[in-house]
Amino acid sequence: MPFELKILGSNSATPVFNRHQSSQLLQIENEYFLIDCGEATQHQLIRFKIKFNKINHIFISHLHGDHVLGLPGLISTMHLNGRQRELHLYGPPGLNEILTLQLKYSETILSYDIHFHELDAKESKTILDLDNLTVQTIPLNHRIDCCGFLFKEKPKKRRINKETLPPETSLLNIIKLKNGEDVYEGEKLVLKNEEMTFPPRKSRSFAYCSDTRYTETILPMIKDIDLLYHESTFLDDMKERAIETFHTTALEAATLAKKANVKRLIIGHFSSRYKELEPLLEEAKTVFTNSSLAIEGNNFSVSDD
Ligand SMILES: [Zn+2]
Ligand SMILES: [Zn+2]
Repeated sequence: MPFELKILGSNSATPVFNRHQSSQLLQIENEYFLIDCGEATQHQLIRFKIKFNKINHIFISHLHGDHVLGLPGLISTMHLNGRQRELHLYGPPGLNEILTLQLKYSETILSYDIHFHELDAKESKTILDLDNLTVQTIPLNHRIDCCGFLFKEKPKKRRINKETLPPETSLLNIIKLKNGEDVYEGEKLVLKNEEMTFPPRKSRSFAYCSDTRYTETILPMIKDIDLLYHESTFLDDMKERAIETFHTTALEAATLAKKANVKRLIIGHFSSRYKELEPLLEEAKTVFTNSSLAIEGNNFSVSDD
């Protein structure tokens, strides 16, 4: 089953060099999660042939324009497309008011309901709990309240070995086996779990951390995860500027990836000062080899093997 991140926008502050402002789409099995919604997000969704109506959950990290200015447009297009299904929107206090005013003065009554979930940027909370996964907030250190998001698949069940399982096995016993139990008849062991099943598929994880100053408080949350997106607005020679503006350098993002023992790092939210991005990647790789640039249109998949 897919667990795939698509980069829609990778630049900070302003759109330049054909790069757009922050947005990513995460597909886990059949659910599509939109994370941040910079100005060009709906254009990028169209460009990459992603149907808007597949998206039922939108997460907004903070209210700086480069993360949210695409949202009124996207919501409006969903309405014009006749969307019926409810939309869950997770964002900071104030976001609901901004959208409500926009709709009020344009005299728009949406064709669908928006369920707004207000985020608390002070402490980590579980904001979404589905059968197969949870989403938790990661409090970040930015100029205004800002949350990252941790997507984590729940532990999965063992897989039945069809070669060894007797065909007459009851559904109840199959459930027991999937849950890791042996099956007994009276005292007698009749189905030994390790002979009848394979280990579960891997539970995968992704964390989105943008925007933020370098902060080690996030380390326990991102420890050992499969995929980390961390903002890397500047090269390390601009560290003073990064401190002033509550951003992170490529070297610092890689340091966090290494300390957290993540499997793969994606850096993005590039400053408009950089036309070429290779130096940012090279800098990250000096600390953490498995680093990649958030190039728009690129997919990052995590396997469940
Ligand atoms: Zn930003
Ligand atoms: Zn910001």
